[in-house]
Amino acid sequence: MTDVRSKGADEKFCESCGSAIKTRAAACPRCGVAQKLEGKSWTAALLFCLLGIVGLCGIQRFYTGSWLIGLLQLLTLGGLGFWQLIDLILIISGAYHDHKGRLLVK
Ligand SMILES: [Zn+2]
Repeated sequence: MTDVRSKGADEKFCESCGSAIKTRAAACPRCGVAQKLEGKSWTAALLFCLLGIVGLCGIQRFYTGSWLIGLLQLLTLGGLGFWQLIDLILIISGAYHDHKGRLLVK
């Protein structure tokens, strides 16, 4: 018999049946219950990124855990706006990752 309480680094336990499933799984393959996705909020990251319009650049990086890049963006006015714009495009297109490599959760 397999131990359902052991999981790999990219796995989590199903909220319903407790079996080990992939962290990115939208639903449990065993019981079919939809899973709550872990990660930072897409909406919050977008709003923080839009603060760049008033000169507060890099706040989205602080929010998503990339402190060093956030600090650099803050001190360089978001790379004179270009770096901030790239982040904004990444967030809107859904390709932005947090410091753990996870996509934002919508
Ligand atoms: Zn399950």
